[in-house]
Amino acid sequence: MALVWYLAAKNNWKMCERTIYDLPFKADQIRRELKNSIHTPIHAVILSAFLYLGFFQNTRFISFLLSGLATAVWAEIWHYGSHRAFHLSALHWIHLEHHRSHLNSPFTAISFSFSEKLIFDVGLLGVLTAADYFCSLNFFGIAAWYIGYLIINSFSHANFELKPRDYNRWSGKVLTSTTYHSLHHSRYTGNYGLGTRVLDKLFKTEWKDYERLYDRISREGKPLAKLRERVEAPAEV
Ligand SMILES: [Zn+2]
Ligand SMILES: [Zn+2]
Repeated sequence: MALVWYLAAKNNWKMCERTIYDLPFKADQIRRELKNSIHTPIHAVILSAFLYLGFFQNTRFISFLLSGLATAVWAEIWHYGSHRAFHLSALHWIHLEHHRSHLNSPFTAISFSFSEKLIFDVGLLGVLTAADYFCSLNFFGIAAWYIGYLIINSFSHANFELKPRDYNRWSGKVLTSTTYHSLHHSRYTGNYGLGTRVLDKLFKTEWKDYERLYDRISREGKPLAKLRERVEAPAEV
């Protein structure tokens, strides 16, 4: 998926025309990110290990749906909590590799340290395993969440916005966008959420100019020229 988005942007497909940062990638960035992608299969390895150990055996369709939903909810909470912890100086070494990319490419989505992916999967699946003791979960529901996560994450790290121009007037009030996560990389803090803005709003960690910035990129078609550029609110008359 990352390769598809990378080639789409390189060949100037129309769907990639809303550039977020009008800046070049560093010479070695893509090569470094591809090298780090060697850790990506850990998701499948750990999930398969839990299946092999006898967890997530429910085969009912309703369990498929509920397991997918439970995974999405817990992943959002676990990602937000662990992500904020990774930004503490004592733990930042775990997350440092992912943040070496200040300007996102689709390959940034698979550029993590081994320890970060391991902690993410053990925390996500460890709690689901505990839940499985009380209410049997469905392997395919959890696997479906992982597939969706990997697909969405590949374009959530692109340097172009795919969501509709008026996205932040409706579902974008709750859900994140590519622009949303780009700000986390370019400014290094804030906008910690995975798929939703809910926890960032609750804990006041969302960048205040995010929606103005989204409109500038997506409605006015004006990309940002500097990584730390802010979009000020219009002066009150
Ligand atoms: Zn981070
Ligand atoms: Zn990222």
